[in-house]
Amino acid sequence: MSAACALADAGLGVQLIEQRGYLGGRASSYLHPGVGEIVDNCQHVLIGAYTNLIGFYRRIGVSERIHWTTEMTMIEPGGRRSVLGPSLLPAPLHGLPKLLCASAFSLADKLALARAFAAILLGKATDPSESLGHWLRRQRQTQGALDRFWRLVIASALNGELDEIGLNYAAMVIRGLFLDSAEAGAMGLSTVPLSGLYEKVPAYLAARGGAVAMNEYVEGAAWDEDARTWTVYTRTGEVVAEFVVLALPFEATQKLLPHLPTEKAGERLARQIEKHAHRPICSVHLWFDRPVTELEHAVLLDSPIHWMYNQSLLQKRPGNYIELVVSASRNFAALKREEALGLALGELARFFPAAKEAKLEKSALIKEVRATFSVPPGIDSARPAAVSPWPHLFLAGDWIQTGWPSTMESAARSGHLAAETLLFATGEPRRFLEPDMEPRGLMRWLRR
Ligand SMILES: Cc1cc2nc3c(=O)[nH]c(=O)nc-3n(C[C@H](O)[C@H](O)[C@H](O)COP(=O)(O)OP(=O)(O)OC[C@H]3O[C@@H](n4cnc5c(N)ncnc54)[C@H](O)[C@@H]3O)c2cc1C
Repeated sequence: MSAACALADAGLGVQLIEQRGYLGGRASSYLHPGVGEIVDNCQHVLIGAYTNLIGFYRRIGVSERIHWTTEMTMIEPGGRRSVLGPSLLPAPLHGLPKLLCASAFSLADKLALARAFAAILLGKATDPSESLGHWLRRQRQTQGALDRFWRLVIASALNGELDEIGLNYAAMVIRGLFLDSAEAGAMGLSTVPLSGLYEKVPAYLAARGGAVAMNEYVEGAAWDEDARTWTVYTRTGEVVAEFVVLALPFEATQKLLPHLPTEKAGERLARQIEKHAHRPICSVHLWFDRPVTELEHAVLLDSPIHWMYNQSLLQKRPGNYIELVVSASRNFAALKREEALGLALGELARFFPAAKEAKLEKSALIKEVRATFSVPPGIDSARPAAVSPWPHLFLAGDWIQTGWPSTMESAARSGHLAAETLLFATGEPRRFLEPDMEPRGLMRWLRR
């Protein structure tokens, strides 16, 4: 969608073909038949540093639908709370006062975290061939810092185990969330179900001579060298186009490869795709007969459930709707529905005693098995550029070479990159990539 809207803006007639009956892919909402409610496939969080995603939202006129918050509440079993967030100190010190006051961490944990953050600031966490887990052992992190910060906040943001995560990606998340500036680390949550963020896309494209075709599965494409056009085959017909952008996850790209013209270079792409793997994220959606917490969201410490989002408050929805999210959730994803629900309800009551008294009215469990691609050490060589082995065909999708982990920002960035690369090929280049957020405070000098 970010590629389509940027290219439509540049005057191209864009046809967007989507296999589902709604837009948004892995970041979307739909009517859940079991509960009769519109639910997100999972809560999605953005941060201020997502400049391309925010630029895309601005382009289509929905950026005001994001609610921004700078505070992260961590809750220990039993209910004791710590709040992380910025102070008036300049970056990178802005988060320090609240971290020092956080009862969730012992003094030894805080010193260990400060040591690791300092190492990142000093550029000692850049080796893309080292795993986060290995580096943390070298940084002598305490069990508390490992369990309550590195595993829960950082590994869960990257949806992997500590030893599966490339150090460069972890350092990038730390800089964005905690060091560069309070603005870069602010968390954004949609105030509408996710697909509501894209409802203007069909009209945006139509007003610029384009169209969206939904429920259309792309099966293959053929290049006509004489006409210099592509014919894209869908299950019900075909579309002839001068240029094609394939904005698919790596698995769907892999499925399409045998149905594209055979090219030697395509083999390299196939080998790159083989190096990718996906990881699951699960969400449990619960409706109660009464409120169970006044918090909008929270991080749950020492629990198999990681995040709580109060959707009644965030999306101003009737009823008492709580969503629980489990990242890096291979074990949770293997549970049967009743087991997963029992575990989620038990954990919720450990953190929010009001949940014990509340009556559960309905519930939904969503397992996204292919939620995100993992970013192990060395993955960068398996992330292709926007230029493909075929003429007039460009690659997009969160997994291409954007420098970002599997996020909506990477997806939006990849779309802008593909649009730029495509227009360059037409001889009428235009810039769509949004500049990164400038570090603030002392970080302006420290990042140089
Ligand atoms: C459970 C979960 C939680 C997440 N949480 C966060 C978060 O908090 N923050 C964050 O930034 N990111 C999060 N992500 C990651 C984020 O959703 C993805 O990185 C992003 O949506 C990827 O976008 P994309 O356009 O690259 O791919 P997709 O969203 O997968 O889009 C690809 C589209 O192509 C369509 N398609 C595939 N094959 C075909 C075909 N042959 N023909 C036609 N159409 C086809 C699909 O239906 C889909 O709509 C989460 C993802 C999941 C699943």
